[in-house]
Amino acid sequence: QRKPIIVGYDGSDDARKAILWAARYAAVADAPLVVVHAWIWPYFTEKLGPVAGIEDSGLRREARRIVAEGHDLAVGAEPGLQVRTHLIIGFPAGMLSRLSAGASLLVVGTRGLGGFAGLLIGSVSFHLAASASCPVVVVR
Ligand code: ATP
Ligand code: MG
Ligand code: MG
Repeated sequence: QRKPIIVGYDGSDDARKAILWAARYAAVADAPLVVVHAWIWPYFTEKLGPVAGIEDSGLRREARRIVAEGHDLAVGAEPGLQVRTHLIIGFPAGMLSRLSAGASLLVVGTRGLGGFAGLLIGSVSFHLAASASCPVVVVR
């Protein structure tokens, strides 16, 4: 089995473009695609101690919805492509950088949900281009 192609998805328009590019590329390369969404909130609650009701919090539901949406975008674009999802807890740049050790390619969008309007490239993509363990594609 070929090493998977990983795509970071945060629900943004640019991340959507990254999914479509990654799905096409994975189909051509005959490699499995893994859609990853990093979810930050519980990272903080871990430090602050247990928070009642976190299991059914809207934030967790939203994180699940986002990663499922990424999956559906990929399968919709490339029917028959093997697509897995991975919902991880932590900061996206660090988590994706770590996961890149087991990937053949890492795909991200130029920008995401946050950041200033005038920013040329988001901090996650910037960090990954410099620190990932596999080649990185920043989709424009
Ligand atoms: P910033 O977050 O630095 O304020 P931004 O949100 O515009 O600015 P990034 O977060 O770097 O830019 O987003 C660029 C790409 O990184 C996204 O298109 C997506 O592919 C990936 N990405 C960002 N956040 C996440 C996340 N939480 N989980 C997975 N991938 C992510
Ligand atoms: Mg962001
Ligand atoms: Mg960011």
